[in-house]
Amino acid sequence: MRYVIRQSLCKRLQVQEGPFAELLLLGSGSFSQPALDRPLAGTGAGPGGGAAARARAASSWAGPAMAAEPPGARGFYRQLPKVELHAHLNGSISSATMKKLMAQKPDLQVPHGMTMIDKGKRRSLEECFHMFQIIHQITNRTEDILMVMKDVVQEFAADGVKYLELRSTPRDEPTTGMTKRTYVEAVLEGVRQCKEDGLDIDVRFLLSVDRRGGQIAAKETVKLAEDFLLSTDGVVVGLDLSGNPSAGHGKDFLEPLLEAKKAGLKLALHLSEIPNQEEETRLLLGLPPDRIGHGTFLHSSSLASGDLVQLVRQNRTPLELCLTSNLKSQTVLSSDQHHFGFWYNLGHPIVLCTDDKGVFATDLSQEYQLLADTFRLSKVQIWEISYNAINCIFASSHTKTKLKEQWHQLKTSVLE
Ligand SMILES: [Zn+2]
Repeated sequence: MRYVIRQSLCKRLQVQEGPFAELLLLGSGSFSQPALDRPLAGTGAGPGGGAAARARAASSWAGPAMAAEPPGARGFYRQLPKVELHAHLNGSISSATMKKLMAQKPDLQVPHGMTMIDKGKRRSLEECFHMFQIIHQITNRTEDILMVMKDVVQEFAADGVKYLELRSTPRDEPTTGMTKRTYVEAVLEGVRQCKEDGLDIDVRFLLSVDRRGGQIAAKETVKLAEDFLLSTDGVVVGLDLSGNPSAGHGKDFLEPLLEAKKAGLKLALHLSEIPNQEEETRLLLGLPPDRIGHGTFLHSSSLASGDLVQLVRQNRTPLELCLTSNLKSQTVLSSDQHHFGFWYNLGHPIVLCTDDKGVFATDLSQEYQLLADTFRLSKVQIWEISYNAINCIFASSHTKTKLKEQWHQLKTSVLE
């Protein structure tokens, strides 16, 4: 059952009914962002920390917060230039933006005084269902999408993200007249305005195919993505396959995904998020994808899945890894059991990401700190993980070169 929770996360739930009262149980903290200037309590372990501290971090996920940490440790992760490649737009909405959205929709009758879900808590399936249900009801107009987009991009920029690939499923909302096309246009307008404002972040967009929509909707989304690929001067770079991993079968999406690939769209596919999907995973790896989301059970589903690891290794397909997301949705039971360790030890390309920073009350700096604390990584190792992520972006080699120059310019001051 615990694996089912994941379905609601990378998924974009479309449930439309349900009492808003349930949201109140989740509270504004559900979407709260960390106070960026507040030292993050850590396990006390830090890079090179003790085994007991690591065990604490590993055995009871309490977020990268609790005890004292060396002064400046948090600053390092903030200052570290970062690449974010796996972030769902609606799951990334901060508490502050949620409040603005709700203030504009008094008809939703969402009372004040919502209580927080403390960081460090896991979420039940019901909670997750309600969260996305609420989010989609609150973001049902193109002006909402534009505001969300701008806020999310600003927050990533404030967290030190220099290159961001956001993804989202275009939605029709008959009640407001929003169409899949105007949804994407609102996203792209957000990118344009952030650029105009001079934000120090390069933003790209992937259109998401929701598995629950089936093949017909997938084809529609691919067509839309192809149109925007040609008309957006490199902002639209690819396609994401996400949604309830139990919905449909990968074979339903092979044809549209292949079509997208032929059209020049890059493919980021959520794969093996739940156990026992070897057949589907093998099929989709045949495309092959350009990046894999999570891949949680690639190496552990069964003995027979050894060839999946081989396939991924042969193609050097980068994995997008999201620790807090996996821990809070309980597809990974403790941070030290996270499959980062397996792939990192193989020297395989991985990219650390947030997945849904609003829903999981995290940010990319916290994810790096959690990674360092859990796996005892030095600042130099963390720097290399961040730098190597540049090789996994979907933008052109010209952009990669520019980002690498930016990293080189910052290296001495950040590592000092
Ligand atoms: Zn995801």
